[in-house]
Amino acid sequence: MKKVVVLTGAGISAESGISTFRDSDGLWEQYRVEDVATHDAYLRNPKLVLDFYNERRRQLFQVQPNEAHRQLVRLEERYDVHIVTQNIDNLHEQAGSSQVLHLHGLLTQARSDRDDNLIVDIGDRDIHLGDKAPDGAQLRPHIVWFGEAVPNIEPATELCEKADIFIVVGTSLNVYPAAGLIHYVPRSSPCYLVDPKAVSVSRPVTTFAEKATTGVKKVVDELMNQ
Ligand code: NAD
Repeated sequence: MKKVVVLTGAGISAESGISTFRDSDGLWEQYRVEDVATHDAYLRNPKLVLDFYNERRRQLFQVQPNEAHRQLVRLEERYDVHIVTQNIDNLHEQAGSSQVLHLHGLLTQARSDRDDNLIVDIGDRDIHLGDKAPDGAQLRPHIVWFGEAVPNIEPATELCEKADIFIVVGTSLNVYPAAGLIHYVPRSSPCYLVDPKAVSVSRPVTTFAEKATTGVKKVVDELMNQ
């Protein structure tokens, strides 16, 4: 089975009703990254940061996967599909994708403030000051904040090096190291890109300049007919 690696960003969840970060109605219009998505912000005002992610989690439980998430599940009938997502929602899993690697963490998990490897499932529950991990330390969102290391970049890089086909959906490719993954894909492997806005990539790609729900379907239809 050929290996398809799909790199997704906030744009694939936009039509489910989750705001992207950089579009004009995006989250960064309402919040400054340095106030809510860095470790310094968390040290300065933990309640603000916990509330920000509590709000994101509540929003996640009000939305559903969309046709783009579902089409990527259909691709598993013919291909070994690996989703590498920058998203912290779990809409790929909810849609039924079986191999999903989260680069920036997951809203439905929390971890110990003291031990990065002590991760617990919290589902839709809020995290409050005073909520403790099993080691007694404060629970924090299991999110990779700006400036923090991205532990899953290594397995993601290995997947990209072995990709027979690479698909990029709904990411501005502004956030590194995720944005650099495309450079590890073999030059001989075809690349597809789905995004209504122009995204600059330094290799030949077949572009579908449209929303994820229609664009991903076109890519999947093409691959299912090959
Ligand atoms: P981004 O906001 O920088 O880029 C979003 C991209 O999606 C843009 O290129 C935009 O043109 C495109 N887009 C908008 N609507 C679309 C649609 N309907 N279909 C397809 N594409 C569409 O987001 P990013 O590149 O993912 O990176 C920023 C960071 O945002 C990441 O670290 C990620 O963790 C975080 N984030 C995650 C979520 C989520 O989990 N759903 C939401 C917002 C931001």
